[in-house]
Amino acid sequence: MKITRITAYQVDLPLHEGGYKWSGGKSVTVFDSTVVAVETDAGVTGWGEVCPLGPAYLAAYASGVRAGLAELAPQLIGENPLELNRLNRRMDAAMKGHPYVKSAVDMACWDILGQVSGQPVCVLLGGRYGDDFVLYRAISQESPEAMANSVAGYRAEGYRRFQLKVGGDPDVDIERIRAVRAVLQPGDRLVADANTGWTQHEAMRVVRAVHDVDVYIEQPCYSYEECLAVRRNTDHPFVLDEVVDSIDMLVRGKSDLAMDVVNIKISKFGGLTRARQARDLCVSLGIAMTIEDSWGGDIITAAIAHLAHSTPPEFLFTSTDFNSYVTQSIAEGAPQRVNGRMAASEMPGLGIKPRMEVLGKPVLIVDAT
Ligand code: MG
Repeated sequence: MKITRITAYQVDLPLHEGGYKWSGGKSVTVFDSTVVAVETDAGVTGWGEVCPLGPAYLAAYASGVRAGLAELAPQLIGENPLELNRLNRRMDAAMKGHPYVKSAVDMACWDILGQVSGQPVCVLLGGRYGDDFVLYRAISQESPEAMANSVAGYRAEGYRRFQLKVGGDPDVDIERIRAVRAVLQPGDRLVADANTGWTQHEAMRVVRAVHDVDVYIEQPCYSYEECLAVRRNTDHPFVLDEVVDSIDMLVRGKSDLAMDVVNIKISKFGGLTRARQARDLCVSLGIAMTIEDSWGGDIITAAIAHLAHSTPPEFLFTSTDFNSYVTQSIAEGAPQRVNGRMAASEMPGLGIKPRMEVLGKPVLIVDAT
């Protein structure tokens, strides 16, 4: 089988809450997502999506996806989409770095592999565990009272795991953590995600001030070394996210015992192939994971669901349902949350069908001509 055409579409994904705010005053009101179609000489088309969390979260930005694809896609015409490791090596040879540019192409090729083999992607990624898997809800940075109200509302919808966006004024963040924990029940899980927003001394003040609170601390500081210093001075369960973007960093973090949980974002690693490699390594190393992406709509949510549902539940700390945060559906068949949980499709491939009327006209078409 050969790739004959790669097409990209741009879609806007507005938020039900009107906006999403995190550390350092960063925010997004409308997400800019890129949907990729990979067509083949066998008449099978696979679909992928990538959606950076604005331009200031990771080293990724929405128009960079499209610019990168214009550079990369011509090198992939004629390649076999079923040979995924080989295809990823081809992409790495054609373009150094920029994993987020490659993510949607790789995702689309998993969709093709699933369609031609008649299997859901989660089966191909290792197997489906149980009926469904657990989700968290990300809580946009607001006043302590507003965040506590938000958590209470989402708890009533069935969520039991919450990720607070902190990384602001440390004194207010201490109040945010205490106010939210007060509306939770024993067994509910609370994560305070500073998204690199605290300096090391600020992080040290926060963890000491909430030492009696049942809360996980996520990515307190900008660098790995700063996070490690904080980790070594607190007994809170510890999550790393932004600084863990490679197998090398996973191995280093394990060696330093730097974290209890890591966040595996599909596009941070460059697609499902590389995210699966990281996931399987974490299982072998005994590190729990949040399986997700930087953001996205129905297609990314479907891909997350397949990776999460094929992860042993004791290692799946949480996952996410980005399609319930946004007002625009871009595909039929995408998984939908029920009581704070979700399941991957049982259809072959990703199990989604794009809404072509929503995708509109392509912004990029690359083929052999
Ligand atoms: Mg995070």
